[in-house]
Amino acid sequence: MRKITYICLSLIFMSSAIFAQDQEKTERITGHENTNKFKQLYDEFSTPNMYRAASGAPGSAYYQQQADYKMDIILDDKNAKLTGFETITYTNNSPDELKYLWIQLEQNKRAKDSKSPLIEASGVAPVFQPSEFANQYLKESLERGFNIQEVKDTNGKSLPHMINRTMMRVELPKILKSGEKFSFSIKWWYNINDHVAEDGRSGYEFFPKDGNRAYVIAQFFPRMAVYSDVEGWQNSQFWGRDEFALPFGDYEVNITVPADHILDGTGVLTNRKEVYSKTMMQRYEQAKKSYNEPVIIVTQAEAEAAESSFSNETKTWKLKAKNVRDFGFATSRKFILDMMSVKIGGKDVMAISLYPKEGNPLWEEWSTKAVASTLESYSRMTFDYPYHKAISVHAKQQGMEYPMICWNYGRPKEDGTYSDRVKYGMMGVIIHEIGHNFFPMIVNSDERQWAWMDEGLNTFVQYVAEQDFGKKYPEALSPQDEHFPSDRGPASMIVPYMGGNQDFIAPIMTKGLNTYQFGNNAYGKPATALNILRETVMGHELFDYAFKEYARRWMFKHPTPEDFFRTMEDASAVDLDWFWRGWFYTTDWVDIGLKEVKKYYVSSEPNAFVKNLMEERGVSKSQLRPLVYMVEEGSEEYTEDLKNGTLLENSTPLKTYIMDNFTPEERQNIKAPKYFYNITFEKPGGLVMPIIVEYTYADGTSKTETYPAQIWRLNDNEVSKAISSEKEIISITIDPKQETADVDTSNNSWPKQVQESDFNQFKENIKG
Ligand SMILES: [Zn+2]
Repeated sequence: MRKITYICLSLIFMSSAIFAQDQEKTERITGHENTNKFKQLYDEFSTPNMYRAASGAPGSAYYQQQADYKMDIILDDKNAKLTGFETITYTNNSPDELKYLWIQLEQNKRAKDSKSPLIEASGVAPVFQPSEFANQYLKESLERGFNIQEVKDTNGKSLPHMINRTMMRVELPKILKSGEKFSFSIKWWYNINDHVAEDGRSGYEFFPKDGNRAYVIAQFFPRMAVYSDVEGWQNSQFWGRDEFALPFGDYEVNITVPADHILDGTGVLTNRKEVYSKTMMQRYEQAKKSYNEPVIIVTQAEAEAAESSFSNETKTWKLKAKNVRDFGFATSRKFILDMMSVKIGGKDVMAISLYPKEGNPLWEEWSTKAVASTLESYSRMTFDYPYHKAISVHAKQQGMEYPMICWNYGRPKEDGTYSDRVKYGMMGVIIHEIGHNFFPMIVNSDERQWAWMDEGLNTFVQYVAEQDFGKKYPEALSPQDEHFPSDRGPASMIVPYMGGNQDFIAPIMTKGLNTYQFGNNAYGKPATALNILRETVMGHELFDYAFKEYARRWMFKHPTPEDFFRTMEDASAVDLDWFWRGWFYTTDWVDIGLKEVKKYYVSSEPNAFVKNLMEERGVSKSQLRPLVYMVEEGSEEYTEDLKNGTLLENSTPLKTYIMDNFTPEERQNIKAPKYFYNITFEKPGGLVMPIIVEYTYADGTSKTETYPAQIWRLNDNEVSKAISSEKEIISITIDPKQETADVDTSNNSWPKQVQESDFNQFKENIKG
C-alpha cells in the first residue's frame, strides 16, 4: 500500500515536470536567440586588455597622450576679434608611431562653408521672434571661423597641414615614435561671435545701454585631439551638439585685454599684483580667510564706474595651469568680482564669481555660496577637488563648463526682481557647471562620443548637491519648498519621457548628435538610472563606494562606458549587467503591475486538484499519504470554517507531524500563519526591475518587501509569489514611493484603485 501511494504521489509531482519538458521541446524546434535580460554583456563590451582591465580599472599598459600649451592671446575689444600665437608640445605616450597629428578647430563650425546648418532638417516655422527671423533670412552670414595664418615647427619651418572642416591634420616632419615629443606653433585669429544673438558655447554679450561687451571665451584656440587605445584619433567632426574630447596638459597663457577689464580663467594667476589694484589685493587677502561669506573684490559701484572708461591701455593677465584638459577665460570691464574660501580635504579652495550688475541682486547673494557648496558635495561623492579655485561667471543663456571656470545663466528683471524659476535655474546651473569640473574635466571621458558619461553622471551628482545646498542654506529656498526642487534625478520625473512615443527615443548608448530629446537622453535618463541604482537597487553604501572608486580610478584619465559599468560591479559584487542592458542599451520602460491575488486556507481534506488526479489514476483516499491541502477562497472546497481556523487547527496531518518532530520548545515558538496568498505580478514594461511591494494589514500596519530584479530571470512576463501571514492583508501596492519610474501605475494596487467615475459603484459594493 505504501508503495502504491508513493507511485501515485510521484505521478502528481511529475506531471508539472513533464509539462515543462514538452514546452522545452517546442522551443528547441523553433529555435531561440538568447534574449534573456540577465545575459552578461559579453557581446556589447569589448574584450578587456592591457590598457583597460576587466575590473574596469586602467590596465597595466594604460597610457594617455599629453599636450602642453604656451599661448599669447590678444583681445581686440573694439572689433571683437581674438588673436593668438600658441606653441604646442605633444608627447606620444602611446606604443604607436604617429605620422600626423589631428587638431580641433571648433570655431569653424561658424565658418561660411560650415556644413552644420545643412544637416538640420528644417521646415518653415509658423512663427518667429523678429531676431530669429532676421538671423535666418535677412543677414549675410558673418565672417566667422578660424583664420590659420601659420603652422610651423620650432625652427620656423612651415608644416604641411590640411583642414577638413573642424579638424586639421598636421604632417609631422618625421615619424613620432613612442615616448617622443614634438613641438610646433600655430598663429591664428577669429572674429568673436555674439553668443546671445548667434548662439554658441562662448563669445560675447553686447550691452547696448553702456556699449560694453562681456566675454566668455572658450574653444578659442586650435586644440589637440585625443589619441587613445579606444578610438585611435578621436577626429569625429564638431557639428555643434557633441562636446569635446581633449588630452591633459600644462598651460601657460598670457592674455592681453583693455586695462580696465577684470579677467579670470583656468589656472593660477601668476601676476596678480600687476593686474589687481592695491584695494583689490587687500580684499583678496580678506577673502582667503573668509569661509562663510564672500568678500567683494570689485564692487558694483566700481564696475559701473569702469563701464564708461573704455581704456586704450592694455594689461596682460598671466595664467598657469597644471594637468588640465582645456582652458577658458572671461573678461569685461562690467565685471563685479567676489570670492570666499572653502576647505576641501584640509586645503583652501577659492570659490569665485564674476558677474555684471545685470546679475544682481541674485548673483552677489548666491553664486559663490553655490560654488563652495558644490565643491563640498562633489568632493564627498568622488575625490577632493584638486584645483585651487572654481569660478562661476554670469553669462546670459549660458551653461557651459571648462576647467576651474564655467558660464551660467539666471538673470533678474531690470528692477531686480526674479521668479523662483530664475532663482532655482541659476542655482541649479551653477551647481551643474561647477560639478563638471569632476565630470568630464578631471574624470576625462570622451564627450564627443558619450554625452551621458559627463552629463548623466554630473546630473546625478548635481541632484545630490542640490539637495545638500537646500539643507545647508534653507534661506535660499522659497517658503513653499521644503527641499531644493530638483528637476532631474527623482524617478517619477523621467516617466513622461520613458513612457513617451518610442519613435522619438534612442538608447542612452547613442551618440548625442543622433538622439532625439537630447536633454532627457543624455542628462535626465542616465541621472535617474544612477539615482535608482543608488536608492533602490544597490543602496547608498554599495553604490557610493563603487561610484567613488570609479571617480578615483579615472581621475585625470580617460574612461569609457565599460570602465564605468565594470567598476560599479567590481567594487560592489552586484551583477548589474541586466541594469546596464535595460537602461543604457534599450529604450524599454518600467511597468510592473499586480495581475491577480488569490487567498488560500489550509485543510486536511483533499482539494479539487488532488481529487481529479485520484480519479484519473484510480487512487482512493485511504491510499494517500497524509497531506496538507491549500484551499482557495471561493473554490468548491472552501468553507467559512476554514477561514476561521488557524493552520494547525485545519490540518490534522500537520499537527501529527509537529507532535512527532518538534521539541516542546520548538512547539512553543511555532509560527502561526493564518492567511496564505498567491500573488501574481505582471510586467507589461520591457525593463526588468526589482518589485517593491507594500503589504497593508487589517490591523493598519504595513510592511514593504523588495524582490530583486532577478525574480524575472525565468519569466519576463509574470511571476507569482506565495505569501503566508499571521495577519490578513487588505491591500497591496507596488512601488508605493514611486522610485522605479513605473510608467503606468493603474495596475499597481490591489484591490484595484477605482476610477473617479466608478467611485459610487465602489461605495455600493462596500456596503454590500
Ligand atoms: Zn552639462
